[in-house]
Amino acid sequence: MITNQHFGEIPQSYLFSEVAERVRRFETQHPEARVLRLGIGDVTRPLAPAVVEALHRAVDEQAAAASFQGYGPEAGYGFLREAIAAGEYAALGVDVSADEIFIGDGSKSDSANIQELFSETARVAVTDPVYPVYVDSNAMAGRIGSFDGERWTGLTYMPCDDTNEYRPALPAKPVELIYLCSPNNPTGTTLSRDDLTKWVEYARETGAVILFDVAYRAFITGDDVPRSIYEIEGADEVAIEFGSFSKTAGFTGLRCSWTVVPRNLRRDGVSLNAMWLRRQSTKFNGTPYIVQRAAEATYGAAGRAQVQADVEYYLANARLIRETLEAAGVAAVGGEHSPYVWFRCPRGMDSWEFFDALLERAQIVGTPGVGFGPTGAGHFRLSAFNTAEATQEAAGRLASFLATLG
Ligand code: PLP
Repeated sequence: MITNQHFGEIPQSYLFSEVAERVRRFETQHPEARVLRLGIGDVTRPLAPAVVEALHRAVDEQAAAASFQGYGPEAGYGFLREAIAAGEYAALGVDVSADEIFIGDGSKSDSANIQELFSETARVAVTDPVYPVYVDSNAMAGRIGSFDGERWTGLTYMPCDDTNEYRPALPAKPVELIYLCSPNNPTGTTLSRDDLTKWVEYARETGAVILFDVAYRAFITGDDVPRSIYEIEGADEVAIEFGSFSKTAGFTGLRCSWTVVPRNLRRDGVSLNAMWLRRQSTKFNGTPYIVQRAAEATYGAAGRAQVQADVEYYLANARLIRETLEAAGVAAVGGEHSPYVWFRCPRGMDSWEFFDALLERAQIVGTPGVGFGPTGAGHFRLSAFNTAEATQEAAGRLASFLATLG
Protein backbone atom coordinates (compact mmCIF):
# COMPACT_ATOMS: atom_id res chain seq x y z
CA MET A 1 0.00 0.00 0.00
CA ILE A 2 1.56 3.33 -0.98
CA THR A 3 -1.41 5.64 -0.48
CA ASN A 4 -2.63 7.21 2.74
CA GLN A 5 -5.44 4.84 3.73
CA HIS A 6 -7.02 7.40 6.01
CA PHE A 7 -8.34 9.28 2.96
CA GLY A 8 -10.56 6.33 2.11
CA GLU A 9 -12.27 6.60 5.48
CA ILE A 10 -13.36 10.20 5.02
CA PRO A 11 -16.94 10.43 3.76
CA GLN A 12 -17.38 12.39 0.53
CA SER A 13 -18.10 16.04 1.21
CA TYR A 14 -21.73 15.31 0.54
CA LEU A 15 -23.27 18.46 1.96
CA PHE A 16 -22.56 21.21 -0.56
CA SER A 17 -22.53 18.93 -3.61
CA GLU A 18 -25.91 17.53 -2.59
CA VAL A 19 -27.26 21.06 -2.01
CA ALA A 20 -26.00 22.11 -5.47
CA GLU A 21 -27.51 19.02 -7.10
CA ARG A 22 -30.93 19.53 -5.51
CA VAL A 23 -30.96 23.22 -6.52
CA ARG A 24 -29.89 22.34 -10.08
CA ARG A 25 -32.70 19.78 -10.35
CA PHE A 26 -35.26 22.26 -9.00
CA GLU A 27 -34.15 25.03 -11.39
CA THR A 28 -34.30 22.66 -14.37
CA GLN A 29 -37.85 21.68 -13.46
CA HIS A 30 -38.87 25.30 -12.67
CA PRO A 31 -36.93 27.57 -15.04
CA GLU A 32 -39.21 30.50 -14.14
CA ALA A 33 -38.40 30.33 -10.39
CA ARG A 34 -36.18 33.04 -8.87
CA VAL A 35 -34.22 31.04 -6.33
CA LEU A 36 -32.73 33.07 -3.44
CA ARG A 37 -29.52 31.74 -1.97
CA LEU A 38 -29.15 32.00 1.80
CA GLY A 39 -26.91 28.97 2.01
CA ILE A 40 -23.74 30.77 1.04
CA GLY A 41 -20.69 30.90 3.29
CA ASP A 42 -18.95 33.31 0.92
CA VAL A 43 -19.10 37.09 0.98
CA THR A 44 -20.89 38.93 -1.81
CA ARG A 45 -19.84 42.57 -1.41
CA PRO A 46 -16.86 43.83 -3.43
CA LEU A 47 -13.54 44.84 -1.88
CA ALA A 48 -13.45 48.15 -0.01
CA PRO A 49 -12.06 51.11 -2.02
CA ALA A 50 -9.08 51.50 0.35
CA VAL A 51 -8.17 47.86 -0.23
CA VAL A 52 -8.42 48.24 -4.00
CA GLU A 53 -6.21 51.37 -3.89
CA ALA A 54 -3.60 49.49 -1.86
CA LEU A 55 -3.68 46.64 -4.38
CA HIS A 56 -3.13 49.06 -7.29
CA ARG A 57 -0.24 50.74 -5.50
CA ALA A 58 1.37 47.39 -4.71
CA VAL A 59 1.00 46.21 -8.30
CA ASP A 60 2.79 49.37 -9.47
CA GLU A 61 5.59 48.65 -6.98
CA GLN A 62 5.97 45.20 -8.49
CA ALA A 63 6.38 46.83 -11.94
CA ALA A 64 9.53 48.79 -11.00
CA ALA A 65 12.93 47.24 -10.30
CA ALA A 66 13.52 49.56 -7.33
CA SER A 67 10.37 48.47 -5.47
CA PHE A 68 9.90 44.93 -6.80
CA GLN A 69 9.31 42.26 -4.13
CA GLY A 70 10.09 38.59 -4.63
CA TYR A 71 9.88 35.99 -1.89
CA GLY A 72 8.80 37.68 1.31
CA PRO A 73 9.74 36.90 4.91
CA GLU A 74 8.51 33.42 5.84
CA ALA A 75 6.18 34.53 8.61
CA GLY A 76 4.85 37.52 6.67
CA TYR A 77 5.91 41.15 6.16
CA GLY A 78 6.63 43.14 9.30
CA PHE A 79 4.27 45.93 8.20
CA LEU A 80 1.28 43.55 8.32
CA ARG A 81 2.33 41.68 11.45
CA GLU A 82 2.72 45.04 13.22
CA ALA A 83 -0.62 46.29 11.90
CA ILE A 84 -2.38 43.15 13.20
CA ALA A 85 -0.63 43.36 16.58
CA ALA A 86 -1.81 46.97 16.94
CA GLY A 87 -5.23 46.77 15.25
CA GLU A 88 -6.43 43.39 16.52
CA TYR A 89 -4.68 43.01 19.87
CA ALA A 90 -3.28 46.24 21.36
CA ALA A 91 -6.69 47.75 20.52
CA LEU A 92 -8.22 45.19 22.93
CA GLY A 93 -5.60 45.87 25.58
CA VAL A 94 -4.03 42.48 24.80
CA ASP A 95 -0.30 42.01 24.49
CA VAL A 96 0.45 39.99 21.34
CA SER A 97 3.70 40.91 19.65
CA ALA A 98 4.38 40.89 15.91
CA ASP A 99 6.76 37.93 16.22
CA GLU A 100 3.90 35.83 17.60
CA ILE A 101 1.83 36.53 14.46
CA PHE A 102 2.25 34.47 11.28
CA ILE A 103 0.66 35.58 8.02
CA GLY A 104 -1.08 32.83 6.07
CA ASP A 105 -3.21 32.38 2.96
CA GLY A 106 -6.44 31.58 4.81
CA SER A 107 -7.71 30.17 8.06
CA LYS A 108 -8.79 27.05 6.23
CA SER A 109 -5.17 26.09 5.56
CA ASP A 110 -3.90 27.41 8.89
CA SER A 111 -6.49 25.55 10.96
CA ALA A 112 -6.03 22.40 8.84
CA ASN A 113 -2.21 22.50 9.00
CA ILE A 114 -1.78 23.21 12.70
CA GLN A 115 -2.38 19.56 13.64
CA GLU A 116 1.02 18.73 12.10
CA LEU A 117 2.63 20.14 15.25
CA PHE A 118 1.05 17.44 17.40
CA SER A 119 1.69 13.76 17.92
CA GLU A 120 -0.26 11.04 16.11
CA THR A 121 -1.72 9.99 19.44
CA ALA A 122 -2.90 13.43 20.57
CA ARG A 123 -6.61 13.13 21.34
CA VAL A 124 -8.91 15.66 19.70
CA ALA A 125 -12.17 17.29 20.82
CA VAL A 126 -14.48 19.32 18.59
CA THR A 127 -17.80 21.00 19.14
CA ASP A 128 -20.71 19.35 17.36
CA PRO A 129 -21.89 20.87 15.00
CA VAL A 130 -18.49 21.94 13.69
CA TYR A 131 -16.61 23.59 10.80
CA PRO A 132 -15.66 20.33 9.01
CA VAL A 133 -12.01 21.27 8.30
CA TYR A 134 -10.92 20.56 11.90
CA VAL A 135 -12.30 17.03 11.69
CA ASP A 136 -11.19 16.11 8.18
CA SER A 137 -7.62 17.39 8.65
CA ASN A 138 -7.22 15.17 11.71
CA ALA A 139 -8.88 12.28 9.89
CA MET A 140 -6.30 12.57 7.08
CA ALA A 141 -3.56 12.42 9.70
CA GLY A 142 -5.05 9.22 11.11
CA ARG A 143 -5.67 10.75 14.51
CA ILE A 144 -9.39 10.15 15.04
CA GLY A 145 -10.06 6.47 14.30
CA SER A 146 -12.59 5.33 11.73
CA PHE A 147 -15.94 6.71 10.58
CA ASP A 148 -18.91 4.58 11.61
CA GLY A 149 -21.42 6.27 9.30
CA GLU A 150 -22.20 9.03 11.76
CA ARG A 151 -19.17 9.58 13.99
CA TRP A 152 -15.41 9.17 14.15
CA THR A 153 -14.64 6.49 16.69
CA GLY A 154 -11.58 8.25 18.11
CA LEU A 155 -12.93 11.82 18.21
CA THR A 156 -14.49 13.50 21.24
CA TYR A 157 -17.65 15.34 20.25
CA MET A 158 -18.88 18.18 22.43
CA PRO A 159 -22.55 18.59 21.52
CA CYS A 160 -23.96 22.11 21.34
CA ASP A 161 -27.66 22.78 21.07
CA ASP A 162 -30.46 24.61 22.84
CA THR A 163 -30.29 22.21 25.79
CA ASN A 164 -26.90 23.65 26.80
CA GLU A 165 -27.32 27.09 25.22
CA TYR A 166 -24.66 26.16 22.66
CA ARG A 167 -21.96 26.06 25.34
CA PRO A 168 -19.78 22.97 25.01
CA ALA A 169 -19.23 21.06 28.24
CA LEU A 170 -15.69 20.11 29.25
CA PRO A 171 -14.83 16.72 27.73
CA ALA A 172 -15.57 13.71 29.92
CA LYS A 173 -12.43 11.92 28.67
CA PRO A 174 -8.97 13.52 28.58
CA VAL A 175 -8.01 15.27 25.33
CA GLU A 176 -4.94 17.15 24.19
CA LEU A 177 -6.35 19.30 21.38
CA ILE A 178 -9.55 21.33 21.61
CA TYR A 179 -11.00 23.22 18.64
CA LEU A 180 -13.27 26.13 19.54
CA CYS A 181 -14.79 28.69 17.18
CA SER A 182 -16.46 31.92 18.29
CA PRO A 183 -18.50 33.43 16.69
CA ASN A 184 -19.32 29.94 15.58
CA ASN A 185 -19.79 28.49 12.15
CA PRO A 186 -22.43 27.08 11.73
CA THR A 187 -24.46 28.12 14.79
CA GLY A 188 -23.59 31.84 14.93
CA THR A 189 -23.31 31.61 18.74
CA THR A 190 -20.47 33.09 20.79
CA LEU A 191 -18.52 32.05 23.87
CA SER A 192 -18.65 34.44 26.81
CA ARG A 193 -15.76 35.57 28.97
CA ASP A 194 -16.84 33.03 31.62
CA ASP A 195 -16.99 30.24 29.05
CA LEU A 196 -13.51 31.02 27.77
CA THR A 197 -12.13 31.34 31.28
CA LYS A 198 -13.43 27.82 31.99
CA TRP A 199 -11.66 26.49 28.87
CA VAL A 200 -8.39 28.28 29.61
CA GLU A 201 -8.41 26.94 33.17
CA TYR A 202 -9.14 23.43 31.90
CA ALA A 203 -6.25 23.63 29.45
CA ARG A 204 -3.90 25.01 32.09
CA GLU A 205 -4.78 22.14 34.43
CA THR A 206 -4.57 19.37 31.85
CA GLY A 207 -1.88 20.62 29.44
CA ALA A 208 -4.33 20.58 26.52
CA VAL A 209 -3.89 23.10 23.70
CA ILE A 210 -6.87 25.19 22.55
CA LEU A 211 -7.11 25.96 18.83
CA PHE A 212 -9.31 29.05 18.72
CA ASP A 213 -10.87 30.18 15.44
CA VAL A 214 -12.00 33.83 15.26
CA ALA A 215 -12.67 34.00 11.51
CA TYR A 216 -15.91 35.88 12.28
CA ARG A 217 -14.64 38.17 15.04
CA ALA A 218 -15.39 41.35 13.06
CA PHE A 219 -19.09 40.56 13.46
CA ILE A 220 -18.95 40.88 17.25
CA THR A 221 -20.73 44.03 18.41
CA GLY A 222 -20.34 45.65 21.84
CA ASP A 223 -17.75 44.81 24.48
CA ASP A 224 -19.31 41.83 26.28
CA VAL A 225 -18.19 39.08 23.91
CA PRO A 226 -14.43 38.42 23.78
CA ARG A 227 -12.85 38.99 20.36
CA SER A 228 -9.71 37.06 21.22
CA ILE A 229 -8.94 34.21 23.59
CA TYR A 230 -5.94 36.26 24.80
CA GLU A 231 -8.38 38.56 26.56
CA ILE A 232 -8.44 35.74 29.12
CA GLU A 233 -5.57 35.72 31.61
CA GLY A 234 -3.14 32.85 31.05
CA ALA A 235 -4.41 31.98 27.55
CA ASP A 236 -0.97 32.74 26.08
CA GLU A 237 0.29 29.50 27.66
CA VAL A 238 -2.48 27.31 26.25
CA ALA A 239 -3.98 28.69 23.04
CA ILE A 240 -3.29 29.25 19.36
CA GLU A 241 -5.62 31.69 17.57
CA PHE A 242 -6.67 31.88 13.89
CA GLY A 243 -7.86 35.12 12.31
CA SER A 244 -8.86 35.79 8.71
CA PHE A 245 -9.48 38.73 6.39
CA SER A 246 -11.99 36.63 4.43
CA LYS A 247 -15.22 37.48 6.19
CA THR A 248 -13.95 40.69 7.81
CA ALA A 249 -12.88 42.40 4.61
CA GLY A 250 -14.11 40.29 1.70
CA PHE A 251 -10.77 38.52 1.10
CA THR A 252 -12.27 35.10 0.27
CA GLY A 253 -10.82 35.50 -3.23
CA LEU A 254 -7.64 37.42 -2.31
CA ARG A 255 -6.64 35.06 0.57
CA CYS A 256 -4.98 36.36 3.73
CA SER A 257 -5.06 35.21 7.34
CA TRP A 258 -3.00 35.20 10.52
CA THR A 259 -2.15 32.70 13.22
CA VAL A 260 -1.03 33.69 16.70
CA VAL A 261 1.35 31.22 18.33
CA PRO A 262 2.43 32.82 21.62
CA ARG A 263 6.04 32.67 22.75
CA ASN A 264 4.82 31.33 26.10
CA LEU A 265 3.14 28.32 24.54
CA ARG A 266 5.46 25.35 25.16
CA ARG A 267 4.84 21.64 25.39
CA ASP A 268 7.35 18.83 25.98
CA GLY A 269 9.97 21.53 26.53
CA VAL A 270 9.50 22.83 22.97
CA SER A 271 8.26 26.23 21.74
CA LEU A 272 5.22 25.84 19.48
CA ASN A 273 6.06 29.24 17.99
CA ALA A 274 9.41 27.83 16.82
CA MET A 275 7.71 24.67 15.51
CA TRP A 276 5.15 26.64 13.50
CA LEU A 277 7.89 28.85 12.04
CA ARG A 278 9.75 25.69 11.02
CA ARG A 279 6.62 24.18 9.53
CA GLN A 280 5.71 27.31 7.56
CA SER A 281 9.28 27.89 6.39
CA THR A 282 9.39 24.34 5.03
CA LYS A 283 5.97 24.12 3.40
CA PHE A 284 4.75 27.67 2.66
CA ASN A 285 6.32 30.47 0.65
CA GLY A 286 4.08 33.25 1.78
CA THR A 287 0.99 35.24 0.98
CA PRO A 288 1.55 37.54 -2.03
CA TYR A 289 3.08 40.95 -1.27
CA ILE A 290 0.20 42.78 -2.95
CA VAL A 291 -2.33 40.87 -0.82
CA GLN A 292 -0.47 41.66 2.40
CA ARG A 293 -0.47 45.36 1.42
CA ALA A 294 -4.22 45.07 0.77
CA ALA A 295 -4.75 43.52 4.21
CA GLU A 296 -2.69 46.30 5.81
CA ALA A 297 -5.07 48.84 4.25
CA THR A 298 -7.96 47.50 6.36
CA TYR A 299 -6.24 49.07 9.40
CA GLY A 300 -6.04 52.58 7.94
CA ALA A 301 -8.77 55.06 8.91
CA ALA A 302 -10.61 54.81 5.58
CA GLY A 303 -10.18 51.04 5.23
CA ARG A 304 -11.38 50.40 8.75
CA ALA A 305 -14.57 52.43 8.25
CA GLN A 306 -15.26 50.81 4.88
CA VAL A 307 -14.89 47.19 6.00
CA GLN A 308 -16.92 47.95 9.13
CA ALA A 309 -19.74 49.28 6.93
CA ASP A 310 -19.76 45.99 4.99
CA VAL A 311 -19.90 43.96 8.20
CA GLU A 312 -22.84 46.08 9.35
CA TYR A 313 -24.57 45.54 6.02
CA TYR A 314 -24.40 41.75 6.53
CA LEU A 315 -25.39 42.07 10.20
CA ALA A 316 -28.56 43.93 9.18
CA ASN A 317 -29.42 41.02 6.85
CA ALA A 318 -28.72 38.54 9.64
CA ARG A 319 -30.93 40.44 12.09
CA LEU A 320 -33.79 40.44 9.59
CA ILE A 321 -33.52 36.67 9.06
CA ARG A 322 -33.49 35.99 12.78
CA GLU A 323 -36.39 38.34 13.49
CA THR A 324 -38.43 36.75 10.71
CA LEU A 325 -37.92 33.31 12.23
CA GLU A 326 -38.71 34.48 15.73
CA ALA A 327 -41.86 36.33 14.60
CA ALA A 328 -43.04 32.99 13.21
CA GLY A 329 -42.36 31.28 16.54
CA VAL A 330 -39.11 29.59 15.49
CA ALA A 331 -36.43 30.03 18.16
CA ALA A 332 -33.18 31.00 16.45
CA VAL A 333 -29.62 31.72 17.57
CA GLY A 334 -26.81 33.63 15.89
CA GLY A 335 -27.33 36.63 13.66
CA GLU A 336 -26.30 39.02 16.43
CA HIS A 337 -22.52 38.68 16.38
CA SER A 338 -22.48 36.55 13.29
CA PRO A 339 -23.60 36.35 9.66
CA TYR A 340 -25.21 32.95 10.38
CA VAL A 341 -28.59 32.16 11.88
CA TRP A 342 -29.24 28.64 13.20
CA PHE A 343 -32.45 26.98 14.31
CA ARG A 344 -34.17 23.70 14.98
CA CYS A 345 -36.39 22.85 11.99
CA PRO A 346 -40.04 23.45 12.83
CA ARG A 347 -42.49 20.58 13.40
CA GLY A 348 -39.70 18.07 14.01
CA MET A 349 -38.71 18.05 10.33
CA ASP A 350 -35.27 16.69 9.56
CA SER A 351 -32.66 18.95 7.94
CA TRP A 352 -33.13 17.67 4.38
CA GLU A 353 -36.93 17.57 4.65
CA PHE A 354 -36.87 21.24 5.66
CA PHE A 355 -34.34 22.03 2.90
CA ASP A 356 -36.62 20.52 0.24
CA ALA A 357 -39.76 22.19 1.59
CA LEU A 358 -38.06 25.61 1.76
CA LEU A 359 -36.71 25.24 -1.77
CA GLU A 360 -39.94 23.98 -3.31
CA ARG A 361 -42.36 26.26 -1.51
CA ALA A 362 -40.33 29.45 -0.97
CA GLN A 363 -37.52 29.04 -3.53
CA ILE A 364 -34.95 29.68 -0.81
CA VAL A 365 -31.72 27.71 -0.46
CA GLY A 366 -30.29 27.16 3.00
CA THR A 367 -27.84 24.68 4.51
CA PRO A 368 -28.98 21.48 6.24
CA GLY A 369 -27.49 21.41 9.75
CA VAL A 370 -26.87 17.66 9.66
CA GLY A 371 -23.94 18.32 7.32
CA PHE A 372 -22.00 19.86 10.23
CA GLY A 373 -22.14 16.89 12.58
CA PRO A 374 -24.58 14.53 14.28
CA THR A 375 -25.97 17.17 16.67
CA GLY A 376 -26.74 19.33 13.63
CA ALA A 377 -29.44 16.83 12.63
CA GLY A 378 -32.85 18.47 12.60
CA HIS A 379 -31.25 21.93 12.39
CA PHE A 380 -30.75 24.47 9.63
CA ARG A 381 -28.40 27.37 8.80
CA LEU A 382 -29.30 30.55 6.94
CA SER A 383 -26.62 33.05 5.92
CA ALA A 384 -26.60 36.84 5.64
CA PHE A 385 -24.13 36.89 2.73
CA ASN A 386 -26.49 38.25 0.11
CA THR A 387 -27.80 41.65 -0.94
CA ALA A 388 -30.16 43.54 1.35
CA GLU A 389 -32.80 43.39 -1.42
CA ALA A 390 -32.54 39.60 -1.82
CA THR A 391 -32.57 39.13 1.95
CA GLN A 392 -35.70 41.28 2.30
CA GLU A 393 -37.46 39.30 -0.40
CA ALA A 394 -36.33 36.04 1.21
CA ALA A 395 -37.62 37.23 4.60
CA GLY A 396 -41.09 37.86 3.11
CA ARG A 397 -41.14 34.43 1.47
CA LEU A 398 -39.81 32.76 4.62
CA ALA A 399 -42.55 34.35 6.75
CA SER A 400 -45.28 33.14 4.36
CA PHE A 401 -43.75 29.67 4.18
CA LEU A 402 -43.47 29.32 7.97
CA ALA A 403 -47.08 30.49 8.34
CA THR A 404 -48.23 27.60 6.14
CA LEU A 405 -46.42 25.15 8.42
CA GLY A 406 -48.51 26.37 11.35
N1 PLP B 1 -12.92 29.11 9.93
C1 PLP B 1 -14.26 29.10 9.83
C2 PLP B 1 -15.05 28.83 11.05
C3 PLP B 1 -14.89 29.31 8.60
O1 PLP B 1 -16.22 29.27 8.52
C4 PLP B 1 -14.11 29.54 7.46
C5 PLP B 1 -14.71 29.75 6.13
O2 PLP B 1 -15.85 29.59 5.88
C6 PLP B 1 -12.73 29.54 7.61
C7 PLP B 1 -12.17 29.33 8.85
C8 PLP B 1 -11.82 29.69 6.43
O3 PLP B 1 -11.61 30.96 6.07
P1 PLP B 1 -10.47 31.36 5.04
O4 PLP B 1 -11.19 31.96 3.87
O5 PLP B 1 -9.63 32.35 5.79
O6 PLP B 1 -9.70 30.15 4.64
